[in-house]
Amino acid sequence: MTRHVQIGNVTVGGGGICVVGGPCSVESLTQMEQVAGALTSSVHALRGGIFKPRTKPGSFQGLGWEGVTIFEQIKSRFGLPIVTEVMCDSQIERLIGVADCLQVGSRNMANFSLLKQLGKLQTPILLKRHFAATIEEFLGAAEYITAGGNPNVILCERGIRGFDSQTRFVLDLGAVAVLKQMTDLPVMVDPSHAIGMREYVLPLSLAAVACGADGLIIECHPDPQKSVSDARQALSLPDMASLVEAVKPVAEAVGRSLT
Ligand code: PEP
Ligand code: MN
Repeated sequence: MTRHVQIGNVTVGGGGICVVGGPCSVESLTQMEQVAGALTSSVHALRGGIFKPRTKPGSFQGLGWEGVTIFEQIKSRFGLPIVTEVMCDSQIERLIGVADCLQVGSRNMANFSLLKQLGKLQTPILLKRHFAATIEEFLGAAEYITAGGNPNVILCERGIRGFDSQTRFVLDLGAVAVLKQMTDLPVMVDPSHAIGMREYVLPLSLAAVACGADGLIIECHPDPQKSVSDARQALSLPDMASLVEAVKPVAEAVGRSLT
């Protein structure tokens, strides 16, 4: 049986499919109001990074602590749980005051000092697979958190590096099926970072659910082309809501439902 991990009032791993949606980066209060307003009845939780692990230091690094105030306002107005990325130990204390789930990004999957600190919490951790990590290394990283005393880990397959540059990464659905057998931790899929192009996020989402994923985390934006990060993969808000509707019959076909 899959372990139940509670993100706010939403149970991940309880048989339902949990959908997390939102922008790559939190950009402004207005942006987050638009996202939350359009998706309150579609998604179970909102995502948005305020600390961003960018490939180059000259790229937008996130709003930083200004983003916490935005999350506080969005939470009190819309009531949706918040998922956001933690990049280092010193961010933990303040982030757990507002986040219902902390994301560990692909690039920090093997930041063992960070994982050990997260093991001391009870806050749910969405642990993304490094794009070059084997399944064994991924599970080893998860164990750093659980062994420390935090059982609330959700694994997230987000694409691994392949030889083809046509897609951003390669979504490893085989890993989803294998992880579901190897561990009782819930497994989510991030099709957005895997494929890197908005037009293919829907088919990969359907495939992920058919393959046994316990949830999806998807990037969307009120004005996708203007996203300050990951613009090419961002869905429009209407497309995000339609995706959730399209996932429903697939979930039902494999004996699941949307939570
Ligand atoms: C993100 O979720 O915006 C992100 C940076 O993801 P990943 O760590 O999987 O690249
Ligand atoms: Mn992103």
